[in-house]
Amino acid sequence: MINETDLKHLRRCIELAKNALEAGDEPFGSVLVSSNGDVLAEDRNHVAGGDHTQHPEFALARWAASNMTLEERSKATVYTSGEHCPMCAAAHGWVGLGRIVYASSSEQLAQWLKEMGVAASRVRNLPIQDVIRDTIIDGPVSELAEEVRELHHQFYTRR
Ligand SMILES: [Zn+2]
Repeated sequence: MINETDLKHLRRCIELAKNALEAGDEPFGSVLVSSNGDVLAEDRNHVAGGDHTQHPEFALARWAASNMTLEERSKATVYTSGEHCPMCAAAHGWVGLGRIVYASSSEQLAQWLKEMGVAASRVRNLPIQDVIRDTIIDGPVSELAEEVRELHHQFYTRR
């Protein structure tokens, strides 16, 4: 179930994804929100420097491990413009974070990239549920997914 608060955080993720795009990085953004609704940390993709592990969800998992108790992590929510990749889903699971809400799914991204003629990545495109257990996952959100698609379109047509 996605509510207005979820949409607000997802919109911020899309803003961060736009910032990434403008900086030459891939358009992904994520926000970590505590159980009482505080935004604790946010990040965007930083792969343009050549390190393709610089995903925002991975950064937030590490931030959580350094700054939150296990209990706080389990009650926190990670919002993200695009569903976690397997690396980030595993990191989310390893540090014990809670709910995940995404605007667009990995399946949608794979389809969009295929339509744009972009070769599939070496890392398999798995849904979060195939990587980690016992996690509440909500998404995609159709009206926001369309905005995310547009950002990816811009990323690949600018190159
Ligand atoms: Zn990732």
